[in-house]
Parts: sequence; structure tokens; C-alpha cells
Amino acid sequence: MQTDEQAIRRSLPEGAVLPGDDGYDAARISFNGILDRRPAAIVSCGSTDEVVAAVRAARALGLPIAIRGGGHSVAGHSIQDGALVVSLDRMRGVSIDQDRRLARVGGGAQWNDVDAAAFAHGFAVPGGTFGDTGVGGLTLGGGLGWLMPIAGLTCDNLVAAEVVTADGRVVTASADEDPDLLWALRGGGGNFGVVTTFTYHLTPVAPMWGGVIRYAGTAGARVLARVNELVAAHPRAMLPAIGIARDPELGPSVRLLVAIVDGSDPAPIEAALRRDLPVTSDDLGPKTYLELQAQAGILPFGLRHYWKGHFLGELGAGTFEALVESVGAADAVPLAFILLEGIVGAGRTEPPGGAAFGQRAAAWNASALAIWESPDEDEKAIGWARRVADIVAPSSLTGGGYINYSPVDESAERVKAAYGADRYARLVAIKRRLDPDNIFRFNHNIRPD
Ligand SMILES: Cc1cc2nc3c(=O)[nH]c(=O)nc-3n(C[C@H](O)[C@H](O)[C@H](O)COP(=O)(O)OP(=O)(O)OC[C@H]3O[C@@H](n4cnc5c(N)ncnc54)[C@H](O)[C@@H]3O)c2cc1C
Repeated sequence: MQTDEQAIRRSLPEGAVLPGDDGYDAARISFNGILDRRPAAIVSCGSTDEVVAAVRAARALGLPIAIRGGGHSVAGHSIQDGALVVSLDRMRGVSIDQDRRLARVGGGAQWNDVDAAAFAHGFAVPGGTFGDTGVGGLTLGGGLGWLMPIAGLTCDNLVAAEVVTADGRVVTASADEDPDLLWALRGGGGNFGVVTTFTYHLTPVAPMWGGVIRYAGTAGARVLARVNELVAAHPRAMLPAIGIARDPELGPSVRLLVAIVDGSDPAPIEAALRRDLPVTSDDLGPKTYLELQAQAGILPFGLRHYWKGHFLGELGAGTFEALVESVGAADAVPLAFILLEGIVGAGRTEPPGGAAFGQRAAAWNASALAIWESPDEDEKAIGWARRVADIVAPSSLTGGGYINYSPVDESAERVKAAYGADRYARLVAIKRRLDPDNIFRFNHNIRPD
């Protein structure tokens, strides 16, 4: 089999970039600056037919395929040494069907594309909180965002998908056509083919309320206790995420990112979030869904990242205090951030037809996010994130973390643990049927063997 440059060039559509071509270095950039990978070729696809042609060419050339949606994989799955990268960067179209409450979204779209189109009609697809991340990876790994209390995870709202399989066929996954594949796409990652169109159920969006309220680190577990009380009282109204970070003046600080998304009166929740707690600043107030979505801003490509964590059955006060302490002690890591995302409301229930995502019983998704610039700080930053993951590990629900946040060296054991034995076995059976040769292996890999 020929895999030399000439053979690759002959087999691929015009516009494919290979090493040495103009644009190759720009096209191979990874979100995570730890990685510097050199694919065999990168094909920018603008249609399902072009994806089919790229997949067939890769098969003929004997090249494995990496799929690039929005390019934000922290583990670097979408750019791989020696692979043919199928980039969906020209497949970002969104169409809204108001009457049927459906959004059809190109496989390479970003959340900004979807939010703008859906919000113009008074709807949203529950998505991630950073507008430039891709719908592809985020949906296929689960999808945690503001609308979870009322609408569940992103993957729960996926009602159909058009998929190019490993043998270059175009198939549909829906409740009527291959419901097993639809189940697998709801959390099973990019293992089963290239999704060229995602069809989502649309959620109507009411006026919302929320923002960020910061507390001194000394508030520690009292903030957690207050949030737990509020979530128990308002499970389908309020989405909490707690960030623990170092504040230049105050030392470790606890930030609550909070939203009320069902239109209920924010006054009692707002009062409870302030009562007897050391608030240092906040921007809580009425917000539209788009304003909530814009809050996070953008994290540029090229910074170095190591994220690691666990879904937790419960989060005890002692563990929380230890997390605050770990941030205080991490002054050698430029950005040491701990993110605790509440799993609440509709996010705790499987959608009709079920989903591969296997962490419904978790109370929190706890993740250490180490972000830095210099390779000289690799050891300290990675070591800190691993230590934080060890702090929460005793409360881990299954021994696994959120696959969408996993680091470059995620182990096969942790991927299995993210699903549990039964779900993993079902995923393996679907993988065997659709990709027995593991052509799509650059992901949280479900090995067919
Ligand atoms: C700054 C930042 C903010 C984030 N915020 C959130 C958040 O709020 N909520 C949340 O749940 N997650 C969040 N994440 C995690 C995010 O879900 C993952 O990084 C996800 O992989 C991003 O998807 P992508 O399409 O941009 O990634 P890519 O790097 O393009 O793809 C990652 C992998 O997904 C698969 N894939 C992507 N598109 C397709 C497709 N069309 N067909 C088949 N497979 C595909 C492939 O296996 C690919 O290798 C965030 C990540 C970052 C870096």
C-alpha cells in the first residue's frame, strides 16, 4: 500500500494540505499547546460527499482518521501524527425548524453559530459555555451547560444524526433508524463515524438571571453547603458551578457561577447566596441566554493544558476545604483552577431512548484545570492537577471523569470507568458493527477487540 506523499496527494481532493504546503502549520495547530503533531494530510470538508470521499481515500491509503469539529479537544484527539485529518471547518450551517422545534447543525459548527440562529427564534440548544468550542466533540461526549436543569445534557437533545461510517456509507441514527447508534452518539464520543449533521430538539428560552458571585476562600465549605441547600430546593431552576482559583489580592477565592433558567423569581436565591457569607464581588442580575453564554469569553489556542477529575457521588465539606487549600498551595502554577459543575435537574434523567453517558447519579463533576505557557512549568502544573484528582478520587462515582475534559494521557481504564461495565459492553458491540478496524481511534477509544 502506498502512503507516500504523491499517493496521498493524488487520492485527496484539491485543497488538502500536506507537510510543506502553505497553510499546513496553521491547519495542524492544537488547542492544547503541549502538542505539536504532524498529520499526513488535512482535508477541509464542506459537504457530506466530501467527507465520504475523504474517508474512502483514507481507507484506500491505509491511513487512520482523526476527526476535527471545533478543534477544542484538550486531549488533542482531532490532530494526530500520521493521520488523515477530516476537518469539518466548512460545515457550520444551522437551520431552525420552529414548527417542529428542531435545529439541524453542520458537524463542524461552533456554539456561537447555533446560539445566534436559535436565539433569534426564542430557542436554544443546550450547549457548552464557551462559544468557540465545537458542537461535535461536546455533544458526542455529553455536554454540560446552563440549560441542564430544564433540558438535560446536550447529548440528551440529540434526536438524529447523519453519520459517515468507516466504510464510507452515509447512515442515519434516530429513534426509527438505528436507535442503537443514536444511543452511542449520546456520550460515546467520536468512535462510530463522522457526524456530518446533528439534529437537536430546541428548548424555548425564558428571560434568565445569573452571573458570577465571588467569596473569600475562608467561606470555604459554607458556600458549598448553601449551594447544596438551594439545589435541593430548586433542582429544576438553578445551575451551579463552583470555581476555586487564586485571586491576586485575596488568595484562594470561591466563585459561584450561577443561573436561574426556568423563569422563576431569583430574589430568594439571590438573598440566600449573600446571607452571612463573605461576598467580595458579583455581577448577578437579569441576563439573556446569550449574555450568559458570552460570560466565559474565549480561551486562545496554544496555551498548555492538563485537566483531570472525577464525577462525584457526593462532595464532603472536608474534601472541599482540601480543594481550596490545594489552590492556595499551587502558586507555582500560573492558572490553577478547580471547576465543580453541578449535575442537576433534567441532567439526572436519561432521555427517551437512553444515552451512553453514564454519570447521571453524580452530584458534581470535579475537575482540576491547570493552564500555563512555558514547558518549564509542565511538571509542576501536571503534578498539581493529578494531586487534585487524587483528592476527589475517594468520592468518585465510578472511577472515571468527564471524557470531554480528559488529559492527553487518559488511561483505557478511566475511559471504561466513565461508562461502567454494561454501557461499555454495549458500546463495544456497536463499535464492532460499525468500525471493526478501529479506523476512528483518536478519541476516548472504545476498542472493538
Ligand atoms: C475552552 C473550553 C471550554 C469548554 N467548555 C465546555 C462546556 O461548557 N461544557 C462541556 O460539556 N464541555 C466543555 N468543554 C469540553 C469540550 O466538550 C471538548 O473539548 C470537546 O471535545 C470540544 O469539541 P470540539 O468539536 O471543539 O473538539 P475537536 O477537537 O474538534 O473534537 C474532539 C473529538 O470529538 C470528536 N468529534 C468532533 N466532531 C465530530 C463530528 N462531527 N463527528 C464525529 N466525531 C467528532 C472526534 O473524536 C474528535 O477527535 C470545553 C473545552 C474547552 C477547551
